[in-house]
Amino acid sequence: MANKNIFKNSLLVSNIFDPLTHETDSLKKLYRDLSGSSRYQGIETRLIRDELLINEFNSLNQKARWNVTYWITGEMSRAKLNPSSIDENLRDKTAHEIYKSIDIAALTKCDFIGIASGRCEDENRRTEQIGQFQKTVCQALDYIQSKAYPIKLVFEPLDTFAHKKNVLGNTDNVYGFLNRFPENITKTKKLSICWDSAHFALNEDDFNYSINKLSPYISRVHFADAILDKEDKSYGDWHRNFDQNGFMNESVAASILKQLIESGSHQDEIYVSVEIREHDINNVWNLEEQSFRFLESAIKAACD
Ligand SMILES: [Zn+2]
Repeated sequence: MANKNIFKNSLLVSNIFDPLTHETDSLKKLYRDLSGSSRYQGIETRLIRDELLINEFNSLNQKARWNVTYWITGEMSRAKLNPSSIDENLRDKTAHEIYKSIDIAALTKCDFIGIASGRCEDENRRTEQIGQFQKTVCQALDYIQSKAYPIKLVFEPLDTFAHKKNVLGNTDNVYGFLNRFPENITKTKKLSICWDSAHFALNEDDFNYSINKLSPYISRVHFADAILDKEDKSYGDWHRNFDQNGFMNESVAASILKQLIESGSHQDEIYVSVEIREHDINNVWNLEEQSFRFLESAIKAACD
């Protein structure tokens, strides 16, 4: 059972429990229910803005001691913000919105703030956009440092041509991007990535190649499924159930974790979670149970 301690169970609250996350009262109850379980060392959720919820969450987390990630990706794209925009005004506005989110995140015990690189506006200017994203990331890191917040930045490379059409990215571009930063930034995990299986699959990247190359930067893994047949109406990043019509199953998940171990350059702790979006309020706890079992088996199979 070597290495089992590397992997920490994490729960993507806003996906698995989506129907319970839109009202303060149901969300408060949900955090309370979850804090009574010792299944998860980490939770990934939307930014908590409501003052009552902030207080409640802080008191619950004194016991639960979750490693907390707030993903602001969805909020940013809904607000038509883009951290890699060629339009410098929009990019600058986005950077300032990120600062505001960081300030709010700091009101609770936040370990990671999660972003994505934003939509590619012009295929011919992708390189320029990568430069713009670098600027935003540097500014966000400087902002965190200037406020002395104990918050780290994680970004999730998304699919580049299939669905979300983000700037970053495929393995080689992500690797090149991360190497633009001084080593101490990535070594101290001030900047890391979330390796999501659906996005790398949609980018048609070889998993083992990708994991070997990016391993030192991976602080979390999302097990997400996708239909990879371009002719299929379900092609894309739809956070679908693991129903065997896509590529994801326990053995694929285990092989991802195994590859991380074999890379020999992985981080000392990696948070792993299942990314399935539940729409049926009556099924959320069933899905949580299934996802937890899935994580447990994948970790066990990878480490045995
Ligand atoms: Zn993801």
